[in-house]
Amino acid sequence: MNPLEPLISELKRLPGIGDKSAQRLAFFLLSISEKDVQKMASTMVKTRQAIVYCQTCFNISLSETCYLCKDEKRLQNVLCIVSEPKDIFAMERTGVYKGLYHVLGGLISPLDGVHPESLRIKELVERLQKQSFNEVVFAINPTVEGDSTIMYLSAILEPLKLQITKLAYGLPMGSDIDYADEMTLAKAISSRSVIS
Ligand code: ZN
Repeated sequence: MNPLEPLISELKRLPGIGDKSAQRLAFFLLSISEKDVQKMASTMVKTRQAIVYCQTCFNISLSETCYLCKDEKRLQNVLCIVSEPKDIFAMERTGVYKGLYHVLGGLISPLDGVHPESLRIKELVERLQKQSFNEVVFAINPTVEGDSTIMYLSAILEPLKLQITKLAYGLPMGSDIDYADEMTLAKAISSRSVIS
């Protein structure tokens, strides 16, 4: 048996890593000191153990309230709705958006068994009722699921009389916000379009 096989098969579980890359990574791990491998492995475990979800926006966090929710310098009256925490990181990389976030935890997709009740919509509505926001921005991937989620939420949020906007197209249909380059995403934020 290939002595690297158990390692390679673990590495292949990482996104975007196929046979060849897994083998390259495995040989890299052999080339560095055992101490460095220890450090890497223990950082992985420690990070995984330390991460919790922010009780306000559901971003990943090291405490009950994430660093973005704690930051009083951020605009407290604009709320950006995203599907996953990784989309917050994509938005933050652009440096254009200065408001707060809310993570839904997925997109409505009945075929995959994701119904509105499985998303953090109740929490969103409660938050919007409790704190006065002027604008809600949807930063949701332009896919069929993304569009249905925006439509569903726009109808729910309508009575709250907020400005509801979404990222401008320019983001190609079916694309992933997380993969959009910063310039494209920054433009999509700046020229966001009004839904209602
Ligand atoms: Zn938060």
